Amino acid sequence: MFDTLTERLGGVFDKLTGRGVLSEKDVDAALREIRVALLEADVALDVVKAATKQIRERAVGEDVIRAVSPGQQVIKIVHDALVDLLGGEGEPVGLSLEGEPPIAILMAGLQGSGKTTTSAKLAKRIQETQKKKVLLASLDTRRPAAMEQLQQLAGQIDVAFLPIVPNQRAVDIAKRAMNAGRLQGFDVVILDTAGRTSIDEEMMAEAHDIARVTNPRETLLVADALTGQDAVETARRFHDRLPLTGLVLTRMDGDGRGGAALSMRHVTGLPIKFLGVSEKPDGLDAFDAKRVAGRILG
Ligand code: GDP
Repeated sequence: MFDTLTERLGGVFDKLTGRGVLSEKDVDAALREIRVALLEADVALDVVKAATKQIRERAVGEDVIRAVSPGQQVIKIVHDALVDLLGGEGEPVGLSLEGEPPIAILMAGLQGSGKTTTSAKLAKRIQETQKKKVLLASLDTRRPAAMEQLQQLAGQIDVAFLPIVPNQRAVDIAKRAMNAGRLQGFDVVILDTAGRTSIDEEMMAEAHDIARVTNPRETLLVADALTGQDAVETARRFHDRLPLTGLVLTRMDGDGRGGAALSMRHVTGLPIKFLGVSEKPDGLDAFDAKRVAGRILG
């Protein structure tokens, strides 16, 4: 569907043979191709500008005389810059779950982003890999079907679920979940907040109140990697109002290049903690900047 950046850069560097370092002119020709590739990968325009500026600084004056192919050398520079912009190499930033249990994890995001599925995936992951006792609770009071969906998922993955009490306010459910956590010896309580089709004041006020009564150690924004440019606005608005601690990008198994990851990281400065890679309960991978950078480059 897309030309890869390698293909795009092929022609640009044919003329370079015999020269020692990349000149500003060479780099600018390459940057035009890089800019198009990033936009096609759905990276937001502001972020493309910031990324290309950084790539330019790194590439000008770079010694390519010994490089088998200057094009490959530039690809490596671009790749390394993207990895850094995505949070750098090395161990992914994990969850912070230390402290007096129960620890609350608040899941936020728009309806359809994959929030409920991710809540269940995360519960399974924490229970299995960290051997912690996890309680799942749905606070989606406006959509009984969403509550039942989480209840079903919890049953499938063998994680405890806070019983549904009709007509209770989200804040009261949150309090009940934390009390149940305390009384029943749960280490972690995952709170799946209501998703809306768009961000509204009521939603933000509610999420804010829930955060106040549960004092979450982690507040994760779940966003659909395929929403591209919209993801940036979502991230910005949630980040303005909630004490977010990290991002989860779902549908990384889809057709998109995942440029939303770069945009959201850039706009919020928050670490991307996990990637959703399938609909299944174990389809949650720790974030890997190199993998995502490779994907964005195509
Ligand atoms: P919510 O409204 O934000 O709670 O969204 P859901 O958790 O109900 O997810 C909406 C749809 O997206 C469901 O059909 C999920 O199975 C699907 N989904 C969620 N995460 C992923 C993912 O990482 N990959 C794929 N392929 N599908 C996902």
